[in-house]
Amino acid sequence: MKKIRINVSEPYDVLIGGGLLAEAGERIAPLVKGKRAVIVTDGNVHALYTKPLLKSLEKAGISAEAFVFEAGEERKSAQTLLSLYDFLAKQNITRSDFLIALGGGVVGDLTGFAAATYLRGIDYVQIPTSLLAQVDSSVGGKTAIDIPAGKNLVGAFKQPKLVLADTDTLRTLPDDFFTDGMGEVVKYGMIASESLFSLLETGKAKDNLEAVISECLHIKRWVVQADEFDTGPRMTLNFGHMLGHSIERYYHYRGITHGKAVAAGMYLITSLAERSGLIENPLGERLKSCLEKYGLPISAEIGGEALYEGAVHDKKRFSDTINIILCRTVGKAEIVKFSLSDFYSLITRS
Ligand code: NAD
Repeated sequence: MKKIRINVSEPYDVLIGGGLLAEAGERIAPLVKGKRAVIVTDGNVHALYTKPLLKSLEKAGISAEAFVFEAGEERKSAQTLLSLYDFLAKQNITRSDFLIALGGGVVGDLTGFAAATYLRGIDYVQIPTSLLAQVDSSVGGKTAIDIPAGKNLVGAFKQPKLVLADTDTLRTLPDDFFTDGMGEVVKYGMIASESLFSLLETGKAKDNLEAVISECLHIKRWVVQADEFDTGPRMTLNFGHMLGHSIERYYHYRGITHGKAVAAGMYLITSLAERSGLIENPLGERLKSCLEKYGLPISAEIGGEALYEGAVHDKKRFSDTINIILCRTVGKAEIVKFSLSDFYSLITRS
């Protein structure tokens, strides 16, 4: 088991390893005020993991009820949030009680936002069960729901009391979601860790999950501690995301998942920068071969014009420059300012 301390305004630990779900009760009990919890989870994860979690909580003297909603990004919505508030009110949840997010990033984001807002804020614990949630969304305190105008448009910063990343739960994660999470894992290697990237290049991430997840979270810790409220350095976590979002938007968030879009986004920006002479060491081939080892795409059948339009979607109204995250070498990301016209030339270059 590995432990990482996140030193932000309200510090907390992230534990990574097998068997943590069975120890959840004893690990959570000393950190919370009350002995009552609501487990928030989706239908898929509920069927697999609510029972063992309840058992472990009970052993530690914590009583809990489960709020279960249908799996899927469409449920990270105001409707689900309102049903959750109703449930909490019916259970007479007070400010000394707490929430447990048991599931992927959808569950974690929604639960965190409920914890930030219900009774003006109650405690919550993250038990992430998808790769993406273990390496990314459960740590850092960003919480949100989607509204029809866009993803994650309503949210708050709310740090959890504890994060328990039980790597055993990843055994039941469908392959497609595992692949999706690997997009973010490769990103961590590219932006901050040559050694992680070298390990990923062996194609053996699955055999080294504890080490891979811990390395990702060391990087996330560094970035979150340097920029808790996302005003500067945290932007490097967005490597590949600008073109990734553009691809997701082009396909109306269907058919290509986030991690895969980010993978294509990373490769596209790297190869375009390489061809424009912005990157001296050829990196594209190395990145491509690593992404392909995990079944991640390097293109998305979308033309330069559409890619550009999606990328600058909101920016054009506010500024004639754009910040791009580039890696000129493996393990190092930087924020580079482009004029919109230079960015247009870069993106539409064939
Ligand atoms: P998800 O929560 O929808 O989970 C993916 C699927 O896997 C779901 O069907 C879920 O039921 C299933 N699942 C999860 N764990 C499982 C397990 N152990 N066994 C079997 N099935 C399991 O999606 P996700 O990819 O985990 O997260 C995506 C969300 O995360 C998006 O809403 C995104 O906006 C958010 N996100 C947030 C942050 C942040 O900093 N807060 C960062 C990145 C992404």
